[in-house]
Amino acid sequence: MNCIFELTDLEYHYPNGPKALESISLRLMQGEKIALVGPNGAGKSTLLLMLNGMLRPDSGTVRYQGEPISYKRRDLMNLRKKVGYVFQNPDHQIIAPTVFQDVAFGPVNLDYTEEEITGSVDKALTYVGLPEFGRRPPHNLSGGEKKKVAMAGVLAMNPDVLVFDEPTSALDPDSARSIMDLLDELHHAGKSIIISTHDVELAYTWADRIILMNQGKVMICSRPADAFSDKGILAEARLSKPVLVELHDALYELGMVKSGKIPQSVLDIVGMLRMHHHCCCDCSPSGFIVLADADCLDEEVLKEIVHDEAVTIIGGMGTAAKYQAKKSGISLTYTHGVIDKCLLKAISGQNSLIITHGGMIKRVLSRVEEFNDESGNTVEIVTFEDYQHKKP
Ligand code: ADP
Repeated sequence: MNCIFELTDLEYHYPNGPKALESISLRLMQGEKIALVGPNGAGKSTLLLMLNGMLRPDSGTVRYQGEPISYKRRDLMNLRKKVGYVFQNPDHQIIAPTVFQDVAFGPVNLDYTEEEITGSVDKALTYVGLPEFGRRPPHNLSGGEKKKVAMAGVLAMNPDVLVFDEPTSALDPDSARSIMDLLDELHHAGKSIIISTHDVELAYTWADRIILMNQGKVMICSRPADAFSDKGILAEARLSKPVLVELHDALYELGMVKSGKIPQSVLDIVGMLRMHHHCCCDCSPSGFIVLADADCLDEEVLKEIVHDEAVTIIGGMGTAAKYQAKKSGISLTYTHGVIDKCLLKAISGQNSLIITHGGMIKRVLSRVEEFNDESGNTVEIVTFEDYQHKKP
């Protein structure tokens, strides 16, 4: 993995304010999903603002792709094309009278042609699931929609790295899930993603790596399972253990699971319990998962499979898949945490269909393979085409 950001000995004091960052040295790698976690005032936002040069450290260096950031106006513009920043409060980011004009702000400033502007705005709005919102005034939108418009404004410049300050703050659970699904989709499309959050549950289940901060310092930088295992540090940072870790610890103390991998999902916990209680795969035959690529789906065939009695659960992953399902009048059983939920159904003998596209297809295949390897199950995954041909 290449290093995208290298931060060395960063120190920062707000003018007339407190010391917000102290001795920060970190390497952030390409393609990672990183969560900065910490209580309010820990310095998360300040650190994120260093990544695209909105704040300049008092001392220390921020390197992007090996080069120290230059704070000259033109260089900063170039950096911000590659490192997109979504503010915690979309009202700080959305400024234009219509959604289209707002999303076009970046491309216009980058001197795109008219055609390029329209193309990039349409693509970005479609990506976030708001293709028909161009003429709407942003101030009439819901919190979740505003957040997506702010995201579209950043995506219209096609950055390599996306930085989100508290992506789910002030959103209802459904909007928050939909934003996190979008982040996953962007990650599967090859973007590096860095978020800040004080939500340990979200960080624990979403991130590849956790950077735990408190009082302007990095306390831990490690994989989620390790980051949340030090009770002392969590107490100092006034954070609690994720529920899955608490549950695992309690089950372990009761002798109901063996120690080993700390679970990162409900499916992991269920797998551990089944293993420990010798609930073998032979006694209950697994269901199968049909995997359909939304980018090359025949609508009529899709409808046929949806009405197939053998497949009772339908999951949609990614904006294109969800849009395709809506267009075809198909109601989705799952739109979030789809792979694990379909695997849980599979081990109880039920079959499902997952509609997805792009890089997420590989993710479904690798997650099912990883699950089969770890649990000893043999959940079969068949392509949509193979399933069609297999049917009598
Ligand atoms: P977090 O994102 O973890 O909540 P911040 O980076 O916003 O933390 O804040 C770190 C510290 O810097 C806090 O003590 C906060 O009060 C202070 N701070 C943040 N922004 C400003 C500002 N614009 N002026 C002065 N102090 C600030």
